[in-house]
Amino acid sequence: MELFPPAPERIVDVLLPVAIGSAYSYRVPEGMEVAPGDIVVVPLGTRNILGCVWPGEASPATGRTVDPKKLKSIVRRYEVAPLNADLIELIRWIADYTVTPPGMVLRLALRHDESPGVARERTGVRLAGGEPQRMTSARARLIAALADGFTRAKTEAAREAGVSVSVVDGLIDDGVLETVVLPPEPAAETPDPDHARPDLAPAQAEAAAALCATVEARAFKVHLLDGVTGSGKTETYFEAVASAMRAGRQTLILMPEIALTKGFLDRFARRFGVVPAEWHSAVSTKKRGRIFRGVAAGEVSVVAGARSALFLPFSDLGLIIVDEEHDPAYKQEEGVRYHARDMAVVRAHIAGIPVVLASATPSIETEVNARRGRYQRLNLPERFSGTRVPRLEPIDLRREGPPRGRWIAPRLAEEMARTVEAGGQALLFLNRRGYAPLTLCRACGHRIRCPSCSSWLVEHRFRRRLECHQCGYAMPVPSECPNCHEPNSLIPCGPGVERLQEEVASLMPNARAQVLSSDLAGGVERLRLELDAITKGEVDVVIGTQLVAKGHNFPGLALVGVVDADVGLGYGDPRAAERTFQLLHQVAGRAGRANVEGRAFLQTYMPEHPVMQALVAGDRDAFYDREIAAREEAGLPPFARFCALVVSGTDAHAAQAHARALAASSPRSEDVRVLGPAEAPLALVRGRHRFRLLARAPRNFDLSAYIRDWMGKAPRATGSLRVEIDIDPQSFL
Ligand code: ADP
Ligand code: ZN
Repeated sequence: MELFPPAPERIVDVLLPVAIGSAYSYRVPEGMEVAPGDIVVVPLGTRNILGCVWPGEASPATGRTVDPKKLKSIVRRYEVAPLNADLIELIRWIADYTVTPPGMVLRLALRHDESPGVARERTGVRLAGGEPQRMTSARARLIAALADGFTRAKTEAAREAGVSVSVVDGLIDDGVLETVVLPPEPAAETPDPDHARPDLAPAQAEAAAALCATVEARAFKVHLLDGVTGSGKTETYFEAVASAMRAGRQTLILMPEIALTKGFLDRFARRFGVVPAEWHSAVSTKKRGRIFRGVAAGEVSVVAGARSALFLPFSDLGLIIVDEEHDPAYKQEEGVRYHARDMAVVRAHIAGIPVVLASATPSIETEVNARRGRYQRLNLPERFSGTRVPRLEPIDLRREGPPRGRWIAPRLAEEMARTVEAGGQALLFLNRRGYAPLTLCRACGHRIRCPSCSSWLVEHRFRRRLECHQCGYAMPVPSECPNCHEPNSLIPCGPGVERLQEEVASLMPNARAQVLSSDLAGGVERLRLELDAITKGEVDVVIGTQLVAKGHNFPGLALVGVVDADVGLGYGDPRAAERTFQLLHQVAGRAGRANVEGRAFLQTYMPEHPVMQALVAGDRDAFYDREIAAREEAGLPPFARFCALVVSGTDAHAAQAHARALAASSPRSEDVRVLGPAEAPLALVRGRHRFRLLARAPRNFDLSAYIRDWMGKAPRATGSLRVEIDIDPQSFL
């Protein structure tokens, strides 16, 4: 006899961080309560993985009915705050917009830690007073170390006494030590909005007041904080951060990863008493787990992070700042191809909060939005220090270039020497890593290229090898030409930063020179140390790639020399002019920030090019006016919408054939034009041949929906073939 009828089966959808179209159904075991947003462990195939209970897709879109008996059960629920409705909506929105399976976007929110739910309680030990059954020297050391009576974490006690953790365990068993549960380490300390309030300049005060008013209004609004380099944008948006703190709400500060320097953290600490929680690839998994939980529990007030911080589960987000909003690093170029600045605006819209985009050289998209009044512009026209933003002086390489085999023009060399003699620092900017971008045989003309990419191998002299910057392939520098076998015939062509260092050493033998590029051994930590050394004046000449252009503040830097201003122009990339203008303007802005007037020189073969003219005239508006008009005229973003499709495969013919079949299957539309396929400028990468298609539509057209429809009907990519979808592409390679 049955006393109770069986409880009805409860079935929920769980989105898994994998590339499948929709959520999977799972059974909820008896006695377990789950709600949408909960993080759970579920079986998938032979393993258990994390997923998120997903709302509102009770029956999968395919309409297949599932036999509840065949469903697997949720294994357990994590004791962590659920992803809230805002974050779930953001994940859905991004999946929709980027035409990516939602599980892949969920992955961005979960992948920091395999176990976000385990609030790691720590066990501490202290002396309990008993006698050990047996005394050893290790046990004696441990007892001595704990003689002060204080509680220590188990591992710390072991480390202090120089014994292994098993010795600690032994004494616990003997009753000599007792265990105490310690609270988990806090993810971050609480900042104080009134710790050290600055005296703002009038323009700063006005902008700050506008920002604080929107934070208090708790409504969606986009501000463009537009100020020349050194105008004090950071100090200004810190006031908005303080407002959010006073209201008890959280702030997310997004920065290009490399701009998250010690300098920035120190500045934050000077203003608010403690450093913010940091979120980027150099933060340990353990620490990230703590921050994840702290953010979800509302204990972390401010996160300063790289683009993935956008997916943190803030419990009460009140403000988002996007510093250096124009930076191309905000675009994720693999996996889910999202633009963190644009998605920050989306997140702010969902949450109904303000977002501040800060830049001295706004992106064309943002500038157009500000001109149309969709974004509110707040202007800081002058440097806080009162010094001028340096004018850029052109050096015409056709008339006053350096002698053969040299890259620094005599005039620039002279100015550098004078600057360093006067105790100032000089920066040479060249966006080329390594020693020489090309190695050539002088006997047969052979150029050494990567076996699996369509790119030249770059010589790295420190590492004594040739490297491919696309795929990482490396080989020792050969002693003879691989083609004609002539010995000692290979010559490096063109300059990289390492080669400039050699030239600086011969021009200025007493100067202390330092190369800064992503090749620096030791990663982000080492880079931070070097940046610190430069700030302290321990370096005379900095030779850097674009790494040095990003938001660093070098107080002693008096002169900037751009070695090859033309590098980025003329690749048929619609953003080439914008990128060059932004990069060179930012680099020049590094000079003369504290109390020295800065100078900047541009070495160019094209002094008449409009980008160079605008830089030399210091006329930012002229550049924007011209570029915006040109984009509108040519139907380029933001006056049209683009989606790039890259078809690749190990067989060139198959890849091309698939690209053609794809083009042929594009749905007819009055609004959409599909261009291509054409061989990509980077025709071969990692052994894969690449072909590009470009879909163009009017600005207000739902291009994502069109692409989704198209991909639903398109022939399947089989074998090694792959199709990558890139909405709003930044790269055209
Ligand atoms: P931006 O971000 O606009 O390039 P910063 O915020 O880095 O400019 O400011 C430039 C310099 O001026 C920094 O050294 C900063 O500490 C200083 N500064 C800016 N505003 C103030 C202020 N109100 N009081 C004191 N120093 C300030
Ligand atoms: Zn390669």
